[in-house]
Amino acid sequence: MKTLDSISPTTKEINQTLQALAKKHPTLMKVKRIGTTKGKRPIWMAQLTDSRVDDQDKQRAFIAGGRHGNEESGRAQAMATIEWLLTKSGLKFLEKQIITVIPCANPDGTAEDIYKNTDGVNPWYDIEHKKVAAEGQSFIKALKNNEPDLFIDLHAKGHCGHAFDMVLHPKQRVYTEDFYIAWELMQQMAEAGEAATQIPHEIHSMEWPGWDGRGPNAIVYDMFKSIALLTETSEHNSVTLPLKIRTKAGLERIKAALALGQKKYPKVPYPGYPNHLVGASFSLGIVAVGKNAHERRKNRIAIWEQMDHFAKLNRQIPEEEFYKVCHLEYHGAPLKDACGIQIQVRGNCRLKELSLDGQAVDRSKGSLFKQWYTDRATYILVPIPDLKKGSYEIIAEFSKT
Ligand SMILES: [Zn+2]
Repeated sequence: MKTLDSISPTTKEINQTLQALAKKHPTLMKVKRIGTTKGKRPIWMAQLTDSRVDDQDKQRAFIAGGRHGNEESGRAQAMATIEWLLTKSGLKFLEKQIITVIPCANPDGTAEDIYKNTDGVNPWYDIEHKKVAAEGQSFIKALKNNEPDLFIDLHAKGHCGHAFDMVLHPKQRVYTEDFYIAWELMQQMAEAGEAATQIPHEIHSMEWPGWDGRGPNAIVYDMFKSIALLTETSEHNSVTLPLKIRTKAGLERIKAALALGQKKYPKVPYPGYPNHLVGASFSLGIVAVGKNAHERRKNRIAIWEQMDHFAKLNRQIPEEEFYKVCHLEYHGAPLKDACGIQIQVRGNCRLKELSLDGQAVDRSKGSLFKQWYTDRATYILVPIPDLKKGSYEIIAEFSKT
């Protein structure tokens, strides 16, 4: 079979660069072989974080490139991300995040410059099927060990030449703030890519006629409630912009996405990727709670699995400005840890009384209760310990400061 081991970055270049970087930065980067393809090629995963900082409070991002072997832009962008994270400006991201990168998810397809693997399987797309190819198996293993907060799948529109780049999100659960957050981030990513390269950008939902909407992004979102995105880069083997420009567009988009994990999103209680608001809205929402990012991630996934069983979450109407009565009805399995309800009030005000089913809520320093402000609103997080089947009533009374 004719082998096109010449489209950069090749599997050989990627392997050599990963090993060299891990050797040079032992406290920041580790490389692990997570699988072997039918063509006997290794599948590598790089994990980047500052190992001198405790992992418990770190955010987790997962970036994947080269799922389609004839889309070299994705591989190049993944490698550029690793190299950038190891510079001085990347280091502050490694203090707060664990960033997993699979730069070449389909080494056999890469070697042949073909879309699928050499067995005609669309790598990772098969992970919901009965029989999963080696590429998909390694991906599932990596996912379960990482439970990402942010997931980005890097692609290129191989037929396109230089037309436009895209940022897309999979189908989101209805009536959540996931749309709001995804679209805001996608706009920031598109702006960053466009400003750096002048490549026009488009943003869309991955829902169109004739497409079932499944695939790794939808699966990762459904499993972990990750902020899951897919990017497309304009590319064609014969008519294309230089790889350097395509790589820059991708890297700038990824930087913009990773920046979201570095700060606190104003309308949610905790710093990092704002996906711990598991259901409903900013003004009355179901939130994961925990003392650190690790606990909140586990709690988020546990609540997410039960989302269909939150039968009712509403407020007594007509809703008063400073007196909130909220009702939750839950039909699901008991939760091992607490579940949080966040309530938003207009303007900055003082919380006078707070009760859960008639009992005063513990608001002491070590409790899971939280209160925070933006310049236009006040928020509280009310923890419900040991959520089990039943109805709950929260009454919160505020006053003007
Ligand atoms: Zn693709």
